[in-house]
Amino acid sequence: MKVLVINCGSSSLKYQLIDSESEQVLAKGLCERIGIDGVLTHTPAGKDKIVFNDPLPNHTVAVGNVLKQLTDKENGVIADLSEIGAVGHRVVHGGEKFASSIVLTDEVIAEIDKCSDLAPLHNPANIIGINACRELMPGVPMVAVFDTAFHQTMPEEAYLYGLPYEYYEKYAVRRYGFHGTSHSFVSKRTAELLGKNVEDMKIIVCHLGNGASISAVDHGKSVETSMGLTPLEGLVMGTRCGDIDPAILEFIANKEGLDIAGLLNVCNKKSGVLGVSGVSSDFRDLHAAAEEGNARAKAALSVFVHRVVKYIGAYAAVMNGVDAIAFTAGCGENDPIVRADIMGYLGYLGITLDAEKNNCRGKEQVISTPDSKVTAIIVPTNEELAIARETVALV
Ligand code: AMP
Repeated sequence: MKVLVINCGSSSLKYQLIDSESEQVLAKGLCERIGIDGVLTHTPAGKDKIVFNDPLPNHTVAVGNVLKQLTDKENGVIADLSEIGAVGHRVVHGGEKFASSIVLTDEVIAEIDKCSDLAPLHNPANIIGINACRELMPGVPMVAVFDTAFHQTMPEEAYLYGLPYEYYEKYAVRRYGFHGTSHSFVSKRTAELLGKNVEDMKIIVCHLGNGASISAVDHGKSVETSMGLTPLEGLVMGTRCGDIDPAILEFIANKEGLDIAGLLNVCNKKSGVLGVSGVSSDFRDLHAAAEEGNARAKAALSVFVHRVVKYIGAYAAVMNGVDAIAFTAGCGENDPIVRADIMGYLGYLGITLDAEKNNCRGKEQVISTPDSKVTAIIVPTNEELAIARETVALV
């Protein structure tokens, strides 16, 4: 079956058409600046990307143009829309309602809409994408795959905050966690690559991208993860601050004359390694600056590594041990320096880095020595493929 995977944001829409039998990507692309002017970048497999500047006034037009390119005589990869057997939609927040993926119906969409309160920037955009696809592909089965679902197995002691319980009861304030599709995919693949069953393993997954989170996957189930009610908690990220003393907010509000929205903008967009370094949110830029002697770039890298190391220690404690630590996402897959720095702190777990094997980018590779008690491994994530698999399983 050919599955169209859609990841819809407020002004963007990413897509991949995946052949579920061969698991090959047939075409992929991105619509940007929807509602502003519009850019569609379409890449058929094995060919160069093609850029279209036709106006994209709304998501329905964007989806229409994507379908046009997928079936185009020259740039297309299918003869007819009827070849698309199903559509898988990434949905950010499933609240406590969705612990797994689900076939989309009017009732399910209404429930996803009820979770919009918890992800006001993301869920409404996801629903717009779903509705646009339903309008243009009536009768094609569609599935929602949630970023939060994999973490719904967390026990109460992990998901409750130390806040008045009534906030949980009245407003559903609790830890949800994100990147669940990636944590699920990478933990399963880690077990597969090590020739083991995920149900027999304790795995710490380090998803280190521009957004970053860590999870403890105990016998195949997420039992802890570093992001919380929103993706702001946990690690120091590209531009997000991660864990801070909550009282800092009032302190800075008074000093800088900022309101809540202004503070959250700083915490989400101007903090993290960008905020500490003043250089960039991109680790490649940070390494370049650090090499030239930039002290703040060095500090940003150290702060990032330190936070990851702290969480790894915490999650080894939570699971009473760990068998494997998996690195994934942009930095986790591609940054040998950051991986080596993190591993440098993990000797107490009985891990030794194989420096030669670590010196690689973007491929599945064990990077600890064979005598290490805990295995460290690089596992490139593939959220689109995971969504396609879930979609096929449900339809
Ligand atoms: P993601 O959010 O998973 O797409 O990750 C994007 C981030 O990965 C970028 O902002 C970079 O910080 C990091 N990244 C990507 N490629 C490299 C690389 N070759 N070396 C170091 N960091 C990288």
